[in-house]
Amino acid sequence: MKVDCLPLVTVAVPVSSRSLILPLPPPLQQDKEYVGFAALPNQLHRKSVKKGFDFTLMVAGESGLGKSTLINSLFLTNLYEDRQVPDASARLTQTLTIERRGVEIEEGGIKVKLTLVDTPGFGDSVDCSDCWLPVVHFIEEQFEQYLRDESGLNRKNIQDSRVHCCLYFISPFGRGLRPLDVAFLRAVHDKVNIIPVIGKADALMPKETQVLKQKIRDQLKEEEINIYQFPECDSDEDEDFKKQDAEMKESIPFAVVGSSKVVKNVGTRPVRGRCYSWGTVEVENPHHCDFLNLRRMLVQTHLQDLKEVTHDLLYEGYRARCLQSLVRPGARDRASRSKLSRQSTTEIPLPMLPLAETEKLIREKDEELRRMQEMLEKMQAQMQQGQAQGEQSDAF
Ligand code: GDP
Repeated sequence: MKVDCLPLVTVAVPVSSRSLILPLPPPLQQDKEYVGFAALPNQLHRKSVKKGFDFTLMVAGESGLGKSTLINSLFLTNLYEDRQVPDASARLTQTLTIERRGVEIEEGGIKVKLTLVDTPGFGDSVDCSDCWLPVVHFIEEQFEQYLRDESGLNRKNIQDSRVHCCLYFISPFGRGLRPLDVAFLRAVHDKVNIIPVIGKADALMPKETQVLKQKIRDQLKEEEINIYQFPECDSDEDEDFKKQDAEMKESIPFAVVGSSKVVKNVGTRPVRGRCYSWGTVEVENPHHCDFLNLRRMLVQTHLQDLKEVTHDLLYEGYRARCLQSLVRPGARDRASRSKLSRQSTTEIPLPMLPLAETEKLIREKDEELRRMQEMLEKMQAQMQQGQAQGEQSDAF
């Protein structure tokens, strides 16, 4: 598998409204005595701002569905300047490669380090059987790396390269998910948060879009494919936010339009859009497509949740599988073999620490155990002493 790392670009984009900023504490009441916990959110906020946020986004789906254009529209950048698009004959024999690009976005003093993982060549080749395997490998390799780092000594400075979200592009020209879509989604649904997206949605009439969306939702259910589950909205959120949240959930799969062109219509402000003889499709117009809903959820409202689900659910699942295979070495082969045939994935990689590091860890744990044992013995001795003194005073 080829993994390309491309240079980090820094862009500054305008401040957006409801963003990654934690809520500030309510105003302190001067006449009341207080300990000072109300300032905790400030501390957290400052710490997060200083550290910045990391986010890794994967885009997958057939070539030509508008993935690169959408990414550029989403993050108002040109991440694909250096891209070389192969011609049709080259694509027939092309195999899937994995490319990583980094961009640092700064908004209102908040830094987000975005890593974009692209999968050029997906579904291009004449024989597409198992063509998604490199993607599965890549996602698992990031988990494996994180597990190694977590088990190592320098746990404080772990670079999190795990994939937090996968935007999966579905064709607007088909009648729902194709066998390749189903196979890919099945192979990765327990490893990454999937957000399905219908690309080039300007090719569809509004009614057709709704029919295709329903078809895709039904297929996902039938095939038992788990996509990212939006968390329930807090009951104390304001009504506008609740409405926005409900609308966003109903939009899935998001039908999106991307454009790298800014259109200047007379009397209106310049907007990103696509011009046709019958009119202009505006990327950021909620009546034209779901682009704004997708951007709002990805950047403003659900970025942290996507990261938490990756850590608490998907990575924990991977870790549990690894530990299980360590505890039951005999069962390891059987487990991974049945997985291979069921999900077309590879053997579960085991994190192996270098021998010297393992021995050092064991020595440290032994030392910790010995100290705990000593403390226990001391406590027992103190308790016995206390008991003996109590008995003596009872006798008097
Ligand atoms: P990728 O191969 O999936 O990354 O697709 P690209 O972003 O390179 O887009 C392929 C072609 O489709 C380009 O000519 C784009 O201008 C065009 N395109 C991109 N997004 C859209 C869209 O939303 N609607 C339409 N009609 N064309 C699009």
